[in-house]
Amino acid sequence: MQLELPFLAEPPVRPNGRARYVRLGGSVVPYSFRRARRRTIGIAIDERGLHAAAPRWATIAEVEAFIREKQGWVLRKLAEARAAPRPAVVWRDGMRIPYLGDEVAVCAAAPGAPSGLDGARLMLAIAGGLGPEALREAALAWLRGAALALFHGRAASLGPLLGVAPQRVSLSNARTQWGSCSADGRVRLSWRLIHLRPALIDYVIVHELAHLLHMNHSARFWRVVAVACPGYGAARRELRELSHALPEL
Ligand SMILES: [Zn+2]
Repeated sequence: MQLELPFLAEPPVRPNGRARYVRLGGSVVPYSFRRARRRTIGIAIDERGLHAAAPRWATIAEVEAFIREKQGWVLRKLAEARAAPRPAVVWRDGMRIPYLGDEVAVCAAAPGAPSGLDGARLMLAIAGGLGPEALREAALAWLRGAALALFHGRAASLGPLLGVAPQRVSLSNARTQWGSCSADGRVRLSWRLIHLRPALIDYVIVHELAHLLHMNHSARFWRVVAVACPGYGAARRELRELSHALPEL
């Protein structure tokens, strides 16, 4: 069972906008809709999806007819927006990265000193020069190590609450999926969860552990999740919002 980051799965609602759906070819496309002081119906596409704006006189049927007229363009642009990489992170000494819901500054450690946290700084033992790539490699190596240690610890604490023990907990590099669980009891978690505050990490771990009992998202599954994570609804919403906000390190 997969816990997915929804890209376009959620309607791209803008402030003051309302989510709607329009059928285009074989797919149902969510779009945001708002009334605007303008003379014609307008549509736009960005990384969050399709947005429509219309003057007061236009009916929803007219707006959707307009979108369908531009169907080829809409579907092509949506596919392009989905495939476009986010802006690359420029690695430099002192830059801040999200860590456990807070931020740490990445800094080169003194020669010979090991990598580790020092207050709000992540001191990194850097091999092979101080270039951006060396800094990135050292930071990612440390974050992955910290993530694996944390996830093992949390799975060991949370598992007994549900009466389960995973066969194995390992890391993935996924950007589009926080966690997954296989029928033989192996749980994989994206190391990128280490950016998030601990309560959110716990929710994802509980979610995957609960799949060891129910390989679905049935009411029984959610009752199991609620045992260890009563606030899971808020955590799910927050994860959806954060999925678009994290840097792609
Ligand atoms: Zn799931």
